[in-house]
Amino acid sequence: MGIASINPATGETIQTFEPLTDEAIALKLDQAQHAFERYRTIPFSQRAQWLSAAAQILEHEKEQFGKLMTLEMGKPIGPSIAEVEKSAWVCRYYAENAEKFLAPVAIETDASQSYVIYQPLGIVLAVMPWNFPFWQVFRFLAPALMAGNVGLLKHASNVPQSALAIEDICRRAGFPAGVFQTLLIGADKVAQIVNDDRVKAATLTGSEPAGASLAAACGKQIKKTVLELGGSDPFIVMESANLDEAVSTAVTARMINSGQSCIAAKRFIVQESIADEFLTRLVDKYAALKVGDPLQRDTQIGPLATASILHEIAHQVQLCQEAGGKVLIGGDPSALPTYADPRLKHGNFYPPTIVVDVPIDAAIAQEEIFGPVAMVFRVPDVEAAIRLANHSPFGLGSSAWTNIDSERDRFIQDIEAGCVFINGMVKSDPRLPFGGIKRSGYGRELGEPGIREFVNIKTVWVK
Ligand code: NAP
Repeated sequence: MGIASINPATGETIQTFEPLTDEAIALKLDQAQHAFERYRTIPFSQRAQWLSAAAQILEHEKEQFGKLMTLEMGKPIGPSIAEVEKSAWVCRYYAENAEKFLAPVAIETDASQSYVIYQPLGIVLAVMPWNFPFWQVFRFLAPALMAGNVGLLKHASNVPQSALAIEDICRRAGFPAGVFQTLLIGADKVAQIVNDDRVKAATLTGSEPAGASLAAACGKQIKKTVLELGGSDPFIVMESANLDEAVSTAVTARMINSGQSCIAAKRFIVQESIADEFLTRLVDKYAALKVGDPLQRDTQIGPLATASILHEIAHQVQLCQEAGGKVLIGGDPSALPTYADPRLKHGNFYPPTIVVDVPIDAAIAQEEIFGPVAMVFRVPDVEAAIRLANHSPFGLGSSAWTNIDSERDRFIQDIEAGCVFINGMVKSDPRLPFGGIKRSGYGRELGEPGIREFVNIKTVWVK
């Protein structure tokens, strides 16, 4: 697939783009380096003004940007608009807090003065995924630019219009030319860019193979990376939980972004004593979900972003069944009303699906399922719940539902993940650090740690 916007609800090609030539890439790198030499000296207050202006543009034009994302990757329109609002929030958050986060820190030693200052690194390359086309980029852009770095964006090949819109927002907000640029390139050009001496660091949000490939290229060049990769988050429900709330949240947590979120709940681990009741209610709620045209306000589940994701999900459900799993609801796209709708019949729709009885050691139970498919497992007690939660190569988020203090403390202490949410679903928030362990990656975005990833922590010692 080249660089193209293809409407996932209809299969219609909206626009195709020619990738940048090597000469055009070289010009963009020159421009970025030139911009950095001046931008690094610009005071925080000025950078904050530009970033606040970007927030304002996002807020004023949230309907248009929301529609753009929906048409490119199929997210239902309500969540698309909410994503634009959240992108404005992260801009305002760093505009207000960056100077405080990066203020010099005095440290007492034998020197007459010793302290630490935080300085920008230079050009940072961001390789981003399509699932949250605005949010993923703004949560990189806001801290990176406030710290005085300049950014180059290689966005996913199926969201080029979103990528261009973000570059344009930065320009209109007043950031000097070259401070934030979009590169319309394929993944095959990433190593070449990393190999340029002027590029100082890189971040990638996406799959494990892509992350490993970027980290290998950066490793050869001794360049810092942050990786935000996949997840197969556990959602644990214990007998003492508020079942009403747990079931409703379980639906949202799995179905967010039509199931295509790194921090979606993917493995439901339920205490045996309440498992039947949990499943009955979950199936009822799944049956009521509205799958359809993502531009309609009442649609809850849109199409998957690309035809290849649709095929992958269908294949993974088949693997669940071959391993012994049973499909309680869903599993058959031809049963959806979209299948009979002439306008949507070429869309990448997959029904909300629940699979039970997949053996925990089956290979498929270890994979990330990036669509509206929930795997539900039963466990006798807290010990078994934690063991199963940790029986995964990933360690991104986790959610646990209990009203027993000792169980809550065990989950907080013993789940191997970058975050644990008790009696709530995992969500990102500009104020809270976000990132994973194990094969979910390393480094953190957001919060105070997020702005410290791409800076030189310079020690100063004066006699
Ligand atoms: P993907 O294929 O890895 O693509 C992500 C980005 O990496 C795209 O820009 C892609 O470009 C690029 N890319 C692909 N292969 C590459 C390579 N070998 N070298 C350099 N760049 C490469 O991921 P996806 O399937 O689109 O996205 C879904 C994945 O992202 C899931 O695993 C999800 O869990 C993860 N994700 C993680 C987070 C997080 O914060 N942890 C957030 C969102 C998503 P092209 O489009 O041109 O191939």
